[in-house]
Formats: sequence, structure tokens, C-alpha cells
Amino acid sequence: MTSTGLAGSVALITGASGGIGAAIAECLAGTGVVPVLVARRADRLNDLAQRLNGQAIAADLADPAAAAQAVATALATHGRLDILINAAGLMLNGPTLETGFSAWQRMVEVNLLGLMAMTHAALPALCRAAADSPRRVADVVNISSVAGRQARATVAGYNATKFGVAAFTEAMRQEFAPRNVRFTDVAPGAVDTELFDQGGETARAYYDRFFAGIEKLHPADVAETVAWVISRPRRVAIPDLVIRPTDHI
Ligand code: NDP
Repeated sequence: MTSTGLAGSVALITGASGGIGAAIAECLAGTGVVPVLVARRADRLNDLAQRLNGQAIAADLADPAAAAQAVATALATHGRLDILINAAGLMLNGPTLETGFSAWQRMVEVNLLGLMAMTHAALPALCRAAADSPRRVADVVNISSVAGRQARATVAGYNATKFGVAAFTEAMRQEFAPRNVRFTDVAPGAVDTELFDQGGETARAYYDRFFAGIEKLHPADVAETVAWVISRPRRVAIPDLVIRPTDHI
């Protein structure tokens, strides 16, 4: 185990049932962090929690009350929270005239409001951790996307949520910097996960064409970046970080 100063910290990771969230949980557990895994699929969470000596909390983050309850359950178990990683999200892109409004609504509910609900619920504990933990700092890492930097046709709803995450993260960073709670927006380009399967066969075929010949990032690439961000010394904050596949524009 490499020494990062994170050992013994408690990290709540949303979207931990797969892809980037699961890779972050795995990476942080390797540095001695106690991972609290949140998503809807309890079977996957339980398997990973068992392997990583962590805690699994099944919750649908489209429900703000469920998000708050997940934080409360983690605090009741561990008595503290040092790190919040908001990785849960979904992407339902397509031509607007062929896509129901509910797709936009679901993305706003999870990608943006769910992330905001988790953050709001976790902040009192994070402020306490920043004041009295050995690290003297606490961290919130929000996984936005390059779709939160650049808008594209047929991506309007997803773009709106990810630009929203970027703005929310920066405003929170400014408000909580004096309390030593760091906020980081990590914006990946294409990562090889199940995210591209959520829009059905047509969407999957579109992405396969769009990324043809590209070597996508691995979830572990993003996870290692997140681990690097939160293991910086207290004086070093990384507000904003883009990570892309080398061979994609
Ligand atoms: P995956 O589809 O592999 O993982 C998405 C995760 O979000 C799953 O754990 C899923 O768990 C969880 N989730 C979805 N809906 C909900 C919900 N209502 N309540 C709780 N959890 C939910 O995709 P990725 O790992 O790729 O995505 C992780 C984040 O990274 C997302 O925010 C995505 O937008 C972002 N991202 C991904 C990129 C990529 O190319 N893959 C690029 C840039 C950003 P469950 O279904 O069990 O609830």
C-alpha cells in the first residue's frame, strides 16, 4: 500500500456499482480509505463492499431524501465522513424530436440534483472532518465530463447537467475554501464503461461509430487521477481537471 495520508479516511462514493465509481472505490481502498458505496444495484455493491471491506448502501439518488438518508447511514456507521465522490450519472442522448422529455428530466434528477443533494447532506460532516481530522482538509470530487465544457448537437440535456455540475462545483469551491473543504471538478472524455449502453441499441451503435478506432480511457485512469487529487497536501487544491483519451479530439 502506498502512503497517501488517506488511510483511515471515510469516503462516500456514488455510482460505485460499476464503471468509474467502482474503480475509484477500488483505488481508494488500496490506499487504506474506508469506502462507502452508493448506487441502486445492491448485489453489485454488496460484492464490491465485501471485497474492499467497505459499506454498501443501496439508494436511488433521483430521490433527494434517499440521498440524505445514504449520508446519514454512513455517518451512523462510521461517525465521520472525509471525502465525497459524486460519480453517479446517466447519459441519454439523441435527436431532440425523437427523445422524450423524461430523458432530460432523469438526467437532471440524477446527474445534477442527486449530486447537489448528496453534497448538501454531506457538508456538515465534511466541515467537521476538515476541522479535526489528521489531514485537516476534506474533499468533494464531482465527476462532470468534457460535455460540461463543450456543448454538441443531440447532447443538450446531458450538456445542461454537466455544465451545471461545473458551475455548482466552482461556486461551492469558493464558498467552502475558507473551511478547508476542497471541491474538484474532474471532467473525463470517453471512458470504457456501461454509460454508452443506457440509451439502447441505436445510441450504442452511434457511439461505436463516433469512437471507432479510439482507445478510450479505462475507469482506473480516472480513479488514479481522483486519488492523486485528494492525496495532495492540505495547501494544494486542484479545482478543475480534464482527462481525455490521447487519440480523440
Ligand atoms: P456507468 O454506467 O458504468 O456507471 C454509472 C453509475 O451511476 C452506476 O454505478 C449506476 O448505478 C449509478 N447510477 C445511475 N443512476 C443512478 C441513480 N438513480 N441512483 C444512484 N446511482 C445511479 O457509467 P460511468 O462509470 O461511465 O459514469 C460515471 C460518471 O462519469 C457519470 O456521471 C458520467 O456522466 C461520467 N462520465 C463518464 C464518461 C464516460 O465516457 N464513461 C465520460 C465523462 C463523464 P446503478 O445503476 O446501480 O444505480
